Amino acid sequence: MDPIQTSLSKWMRENRNFQENYAKIREEVLRDPEINEFLSLHSELGKREINKSLIKLYEYKTQSKQCSGCSSFENCQNMLQGYSPILHVDKGEIHLSYEKCHSRMMYEKDKKQQKLVQSVHVPKEILQASLNDIESDDVRDNAVMEMFRFIKEASNGLPKKGFYFYGPFGVGKTYLLGALANELKKMNYSSMIIYMPEFVREIKSSFKNDTTNEKIDYFKKADILMLDDIGAEMQSAWFRDEILGSVLQYRMMEQLPVFFTSNYSLEQLEGVLSTTRDGIETVKAGRIIERIKQVSNEIEILGENRRK
Ligand code: ADP
Ligand code: MG
Repeated sequence: MDPIQTSLSKWMRENRNFQENYAKIREEVLRDPEINEFLSLHSELGKREINKSLIKLYEYKTQSKQCSGCSSFENCQNMLQGYSPILHVDKGEIHLSYEKCHSRMMYEKDKKQQKLVQSVHVPKEILQASLNDIESDDVRDNAVMEMFRFIKEASNGLPKKGFYFYGPFGVGKTYLLGALANELKKMNYSSMIIYMPEFVREIKSSFKNDTTNEKIDYFKKADILMLDDIGAEMQSAWFRDEILGSVLQYRMMEQLPVFFTSNYSLEQLEGVLSTTRDGIETVKAGRIIERIKQVSNEIEILGENRRK
């Protein structure tokens, strides 16, 4: 029996169709500008090696390089989704390997960053808020300017103080926080946004499975904590002093910024926090207000109600 190579050569010689196809593909491959350039950089490669590696060169030619032929990561047309081919020569042989393309890297970075903004009970549109969509008008100019200043400073480490945005319902206070969280995640800072009424419920429900301390720790230690709608929660002396008080105390000591939104100015909030079922406790409420002032700067936001 003939060795397989001999039979194959014989078959190839006899099969004109195959030969013609092969020649056509070979010509196409060698005409490809990128392959041409690769081969001209490696003039040491002989015809034999090129012929031997024709399949690899052909594969290289058909793949999209660094996303040039793909509209998006999801629509990647390559054999290995999100990987781009590269040709190299090692010990006189042509090798084809794949490396992550930039769309894949962006996609992975995005996935990782999505985890950086954690939220409890925050509308989706807020989580998608972007600074680019914020028109800065007279009434919000100050707030927007301060936000930009914060972001600029954050590139050299987180500033010690966040903001206490207050003003009427619907002017976009929560939206500003969402946009800020999204901007900060690009710098790899994680934010925890929580709607205050939900914060109280969340802590109360943690009693059942004994996870209270773990939860509180989380709020204490997040890079950035955003408390949405402070004053809208059911007032309880215990939550105010033991939970909110201790989270703010910790963050004040560690110089970690906190952001707030509220319908109340700090002066008004003091009144709200002082009134619980246990009576009126102005000293205790005042202590919370002091801590809020240590971790944030008060900014009023006016304007029209944007809620439809
Ligand atoms: P507030 O927290 O002050 O009550 P929100 O932030 O919830 O107000 O904003 C009210 C509505 O207006 C929301 O539906 C929000 O998505 C929308 N909104 C606020 N600011 C903007 C903005 N700059 N661009 C687009 N939509 C906005
Ligand atoms: Mg709000």
